[in-house]
Amino acid sequence: MSEWASVLAVFWVLWALDGVRVVRRRGFSFVIGATGRISRAGYARVSLPGLWPGRWRMTTDDVPVSLSPVGICNRPVGAAGRPGEGPAKAHVWRWEEIREVGVADGWIYVNGVRFSPNTGHVVAPELLALARLAPPLREARIRLLVNRWFRPVHLRRRARVLTGRTRIAAALNAVALIAYVVLSVYVVGDVASRITPQWSGRIAAALPWIFGGLLFFHIAPVIVVWRSLRRLKPVRLEKRSANLFSALMLPPQALRLRSLAGEGYFPAQHPLACFLAFGEAAVRARWGFNVIADLRWPIDAAGDSPLAQEIAGWFRGTLEAKVVTLLAAEGVALETLLGPPPRDAAASCRYCPRCRDQFVAGPEVCPHGVKLRPLAGSDTP
Ligand SMILES: [Zn+2]
Repeated sequence: MSEWASVLAVFWVLWALDGVRVVRRRGFSFVIGATGRISRAGYARVSLPGLWPGRWRMTTDDVPVSLSPVGICNRPVGAAGRPGEGPAKAHVWRWEEIREVGVADGWIYVNGVRFSPNTGHVVAPELLALARLAPPLREARIRLLVNRWFRPVHLRRRARVLTGRTRIAAALNAVALIAYVVLSVYVVGDVASRITPQWSGRIAAALPWIFGGLLFFHIAPVIVVWRSLRRLKPVRLEKRSANLFSALMLPPQALRLRSLAGEGYFPAQHPLACFLAFGEAAVRARWGFNVIADLRWPIDAAGDSPLAQEIAGWFRGTLEAKVVTLLAAEGVALETLLGPPPRDAAASCRYCPRCRDQFVAGPEVCPHGVKLRPLAGSDTP
């Protein structure tokens, strides 16, 4: 039995590693349940998949650039992640200076200079097209781009299609996962020696059927998902066919087929759109606050050139208009998000509107450089 135990150990290690992704920059990763609710969300360099086959994953990044009718700079604004991933000093290009835009190694290069991570929010051909547009048309095109990043209703609709089309595969996967768990408990717990010889004999005789059943529950969902891929048209780069083939060869990789089918199926979104689409009220409020706070009380941008600050400023206004409208439409009350926090100590008299830290008399700005505000009812203004 010990060789079976090692086979199972390898199986579960491969299962645990399947879908673990390590990326170079922190990004958002959401594990979403069959009910369309976030069961886990993280902002990290490592993205972990869901454990249960009914769950699927979506990843997205903060928008890495600022756009304006004048030009583009790689200063992110309206970021949800903390700490943000902005550059120490922003690079900036006026549209008329842009001659070529390329992509290499996950980065967008402008005129041969590394510019910003290629997150899919604005792809290289779109940047080049923007550069060649007349300025009035450019502004309209940028607003269209921004609208495209905030579509929670669209995300929910796509999620329903994904779960609908992968219902059978997820159910078959769930049965297989439970069977593997039972098999592992049987082998590792040495159940064979604890039950009557009669029963262990019966189980031994049924082994070919058990393995036949496992083979069915391995191959059938792969075929089902293969057929449903045609209906789940991808909108982003993906390797679903190659991954599905790899899953066919390696059973531990074939237990999250719903998640596999969802790769590339969701458009690049602002993280807030994902939180609004799939989050509970507290989750939506928390991340909605982060985005608004980054728009109203930005940090890190003090060393940027006046042109970079002008572009980021225009973009900040455009994003804020969009975000405020969207939060209202999704029923998140902005006033309650932005109100002063309850006083954490008797001596506290000021707070930072961005990081919500509280201060006693003395500093006028928080360590990040944000101007402090008086706490309600305090004597010191
Ligand atoms: Zn602060």
